[in-house]
Amino acid sequence: MPGYEVIGKEEQHSINKIFKNANGIMFRHGFENLRNNQFLVNEFENKFKKKFDSKYSLAVTSGTAALRVAIASLDLQKDDEIITQSFTFVATVEAIIESRCKPICTEIDDSYNMCPNDLIKKISDKTKAVIVVHMLGQPANLKKIKQICKKYKLILIEDTAWGIGGRFQKKFLGTVGDIGTFSFDFAKTITTGEGGMILFKKKKNYLAAKAWHDHGHENNPKLNRWEDSRKISGFNFRMSELIAAVGLVQLKKFDKIFNRHEVNKKKILNEIKSYKNYFLPKNPKFSKPAAEALILNLHSKKKALKFRRLLLRYKISTKILPEATTWHFAGEWEHIKIKNKKFPNTRKLLDSSVAIPIFFKMKNNFPKIIKNIIESLNN
Ligand SMILES: *Cc1c(COP(=O)(O)O)cnc(C)c1O
Repeated sequence: MPGYEVIGKEEQHSINKIFKNANGIMFRHGFENLRNNQFLVNEFENKFKKKFDSKYSLAVTSGTAALRVAIASLDLQKDDEIITQSFTFVATVEAIIESRCKPICTEIDDSYNMCPNDLIKKISDKTKAVIVVHMLGQPANLKKIKQICKKYKLILIEDTAWGIGGRFQKKFLGTVGDIGTFSFDFAKTITTGEGGMILFKKKKNYLAAKAWHDHGHENNPKLNRWEDSRKISGFNFRMSELIAAVGLVQLKKFDKIFNRHEVNKKKILNEIKSYKNYFLPKNPKFSKPAAEALILNLHSKKKALKFRRLLLRYKISTKILPEATTWHFAGEWEHIKIKNKKFPNTRKLLDSSVAIPIFFKMKNNFPKIIKNIIESLNN
């Protein structure tokens, strides 16, 4: 569960430093004399890319903005197609539409993420990029998806809003494809209230994104900002110093949060391991999830709904599954135009699944509660 479980004095203190050390300068650029050389957004970008082994990083205002800016860095044409998965958050599809491209969605497979076979079926000569999502921290099948992207010359973006800290073949999720996007909204592993980050493999994409998210500014060191050079128009998705101040502290807490989530997820798994009435998502070979949630497939919609009902008695809600497909399953989006809205395999998997939230401050009796519910499903 989110960094808001571990937010407090340190973050508050970090914000105060903007006023104490930097004369209240909240803009990420300029004011060198007034700010005593304190550039928190720069520092957040640098520490983030170092932590997750990437060459280039760009801080933005949200995970949704991260997706929009990532697409803007690709130089696509109107009506180019971008393929994402049908089990996602609506933001991936919104970012494609806002980029004047066409969203295409695939089925998911037993990884609970993009089905590589369906991806191949949905590639057309208009397809330019793929946005794979590591939903609820579960790693997508990056090996096959990467091979497919290579073969068809498609850019691979990883929406890592849930997958932060997870791994694939020793690499961090978000650094396997060409671009990785991250979210720091209030429900994510580390939070700044609102915020996002993008990691890039190629300098070319980084520079294009950096300019586009800042009205096209190239931030030429030889020029004043009001006379700055530019080649493209853009928009404003710049992060402020206030957000970075919180982000820097949350990033420091990241390992502790990530590890505790893993331990707590294992405690629940241990408690229920002797039961045979559920199965787990399949982790692709050599991958490691971020323990943001525990997905259990209970074989039927009835059982999934019963599980949720029983958990709610303890005033704990399941997380996205089975109840929140309104926002997370393309098969339900009547307000958005997507070609081929039928995803029978995905619907079947989602309908019979529950996602149990993993808390940082998990109550000692929580694994037992889950065990009792699993047990009572057989009655
Ligand atoms: C949260 C989330 C986003 C959007 O991030 P925001 O910071 O809320 O804009 C994008 N994709 C996925 C999969 C998410 O879960």
